[in-house]
Amino acid sequence: MTSWFAGVDRKEGRVTTNEPCGVLVIAAHPDDEILGCGGTIALHVARGDIVHVMIACESESLRYSSRDQNVDMDRQMRQAARALGVDDVRQLGFPDQRLDTMPLIDLIAPLEHAIREIRPSVVYCQYGGDLNRDHQLLFKAALVAVRPMEEFIDAIFAFETLSSTEWAYPRTFAPDSWVDITDTLESKLAAMSCYRSELREYPHPRSLKAIRSKAEATGTQCCLAAAEAFMTVRRVSRDGRLPA
Ligand SMILES: [Zn+2]
Repeated sequence: MTSWFAGVDRKEGRVTTNEPCGVLVIAAHPDDEILGCGGTIALHVARGDIVHVMIACESESLRYSSRDQNVDMDRQMRQAARALGVDDVRQLGFPDQRLDTMPLIDLIAPLEHAIREIRPSVVYCQYGGDLNRDHQLLFKAALVAVRPMEEFIDAIFAFETLSSTEWAYPRTFAPDSWVDITDTLESKLAAMSCYRSELREYPHPRSLKAIRSKAEATGTQCCLAAAEAFMTVRRVSRDGRLPA
């Protein structure tokens, strides 16, 4: 497994910039992974990285739902993953908006188990300052699961989620990393359109038009046509390698 960082491969004695790596996306609800980093996931897949998506809870729209809707949500989630080229989507099956009723350790344990199995170089997770309580708690649990003893992890980034990050107060999401998704914005939108039950009418932020506008506005912060922005939780450059 290679690294998010550039550097010298000690065995080969060559620079290992931008080579394939393992990626894990940790999201609270189905569609958060697309809203937060759908375009970046598509770029990882295009580079040949193996991307795993882990979703902690059932969807918000399932709160009063029937079994049929549950099956449909499962289908939407898998269609969205396929649209980005992701084969491995796992659900922990926790009840939506109920993470605060359980001990945090119950959330940490399955995350730790998955991280030790997958051994990702890069982890993307929900931002802990979001309005949504599940997002906050999942971030706390993820932070424990990715602690620095897991020395295969090079970088952890928190993503923003439309209709939760910007609805929090105080608004503390201050990005420090931008990924150019000009080439994968259409894939992100195609993946999001699979989540028919989660989409809303414009000007709701969870509408396709608003998602496009957001990506374009985020891009222009760094003179890019479209981007996703992240907050760095931790980056560690080991074994003499340097940050890219
Ligand atoms: Zn969510």
